[in-house]
Amino acid sequence: NKTANQMLIIFGASGDLTARKLIPAIYNLYKGNHLPENFVVLGASRSAMTDGEFRRKVVQESAYLKDVISTEDADFVSKFSDKIFYEDLGSDYDTDYDLLGKRIGDLNSKYHTSNQYIFYLSTPPSLYEAIAKNLHNQGLTNETEGWKRIIVEKPFGYSLKTAKDLNTGLQKYFKEKQIYRIDHYLGKETVQNLLVTRFANSIFEPLWNRNYIHHIEITNAETVGVEKRGGYYDKSGALRDMFQSHLLQIVSLIVMEPPINSSAEEIRNEKVKALKSLRIMTDEKTLFDHTIKGQYVASEIDGEKVKGYREEEGVDPNSKTETFAAIKFFVDNWRWKDIPFYVRTAKRMPTKVTEVVIHFKTPHHQVFKEQDINNKDNKLIIRIQPDEGILLKFGVKVPGQGFQVERANLDFYYSSLSDSNIMQAYERLLLDAMQGDATLYARADEVEAAWAFVDPILNYWENGKDVNTYGYSAGVWGPTNSDDLIEGDYTWRNPGPH
Ligand code: NAP
Repeated sequence: NKTANQMLIIFGASGDLTARKLIPAIYNLYKGNHLPENFVVLGASRSAMTDGEFRRKVVQESAYLKDVISTEDADFVSKFSDKIFYEDLGSDYDTDYDLLGKRIGDLNSKYHTSNQYIFYLSTPPSLYEAIAKNLHNQGLTNETEGWKRIIVEKPFGYSLKTAKDLNTGLQKYFKEKQIYRIDHYLGKETVQNLLVTRFANSIFEPLWNRNYIHHIEITNAETVGVEKRGGYYDKSGALRDMFQSHLLQIVSLIVMEPPINSSAEEIRNEKVKALKSLRIMTDEKTLFDHTIKGQYVASEIDGEKVKGYREEEGVDPNSKTETFAAIKFFVDNWRWKDIPFYVRTAKRMPTKVTEVVIHFKTPHHQVFKEQDINNKDNKLIIRIQPDEGILLKFGVKVPGQGFQVERANLDFYYSSLSDSNIMQAYERLLLDAMQGDATLYARADEVEAAWAFVDPILNYWENGKDVNTYGYSAGVWGPTNSDDLIEGDYTWRNPGPH
């Protein structure tokens, strides 16, 4: 696909995300020849900087590109940095947007970017509506000449109500088709591969339902604590930070029906239907039985002391915010009726991993009595990170007398597909937005459907009776009672280090 001439305007250009993700992604796209002939980046934020100062920051600071480009040819780097500009946005928004509007117009004329603009909002979300309004007042949302798009970062709302307010606020100034809500999980190859595994093969889809699947498990584990983000995290928690966005996106790709084609609208229509079919938990008994929240406590990893969550900088010493969340739920539709889904996300776990485990039912008649009770089902494990790949566990005969059955692995690693770099999530998603493909971006109704499911859990955790915040030590798989969530004699699959 060819990328049309355009300008990328980044709000919050002095921030962490711009340095660590956006600039390196743009650089890699430039290096991979994916950017159009006429392309410029205009950074904007409140910090005062000249174009030259911003360019030096980008090239010389290790937060940005210093480490990436150390071995590159100086001419090449200088050609790249010539495409980068910067404009201050002081506190006086109206005047400054006049200056910004004029700057965009001048750069557009000089570099022939065809009045085609992407506004990337990498600022606190509280500013999104004001930025959209000011762009609108400058005539910069109007598509009479050239398209205009806006990319917004998560968190997309704090609750169902705030998400709706944010959607309404943006939709006053941009049409829904101009709005791209980024969820970098959707930029990951293995997440996209869920669609391909399901809908480009005839061997999985016939089994992908309540008749053959026993239950589905999703784990997102990090080894780190909250690091320097204590202040932000304490107001958010695992459910808002990971579950509402990234993990429910994965759930929607597992649950959805086959789309009629691969267009953005058809895929997103099916994802919305999937999210709307999650059974919303409303009564306290179900919420008590099906949700577990936890917090890491002061402990030791490999003989080294680590702080408990409540001792972390920026965290309230009496905080009840969860760093571990495990949720059991059901999906009320024809395909999934009564099949339990278990999803957990946590910090300070034994290993860093995100994976989906599809547990198939055991054969309904056991011919081989020696089958190992702990290893009895077929599992399809989709490893989202690290070591992206797919593993199918199936029974084979142990050599020798009798019919002893053991599980063997049929595995595929993404890294074996390509010697060259797999595009990073931000590269892929930015390129899609540049080409007007919104398939991997969340639509307003999708975000709201996810919040509608999460809101009652958050309300219960914040205001309900008998809610416990269980402590767990660093380096274990969360509170000891989290296995009780899983029905029957199953437990969580706790993957080892890799
Ligand atoms: P950050 O480092 O705090 O940067 C925010 C930027 O916004 C700064 O450049 C700041 O620049 C500007 N800003 C802050 N307050 C402002 C205000 N009142 N008016 C105008 N500009 C203001 O944050 P970040 O980590 O880059 O995150 C940016 C966005 O991405 C947030 O929505 C965040 O939730 C989201 N996000 C970040 C990450 C990540 O890995 N960092 C991951 C996922 C999502 P000036 O002070 O110079 O104006």
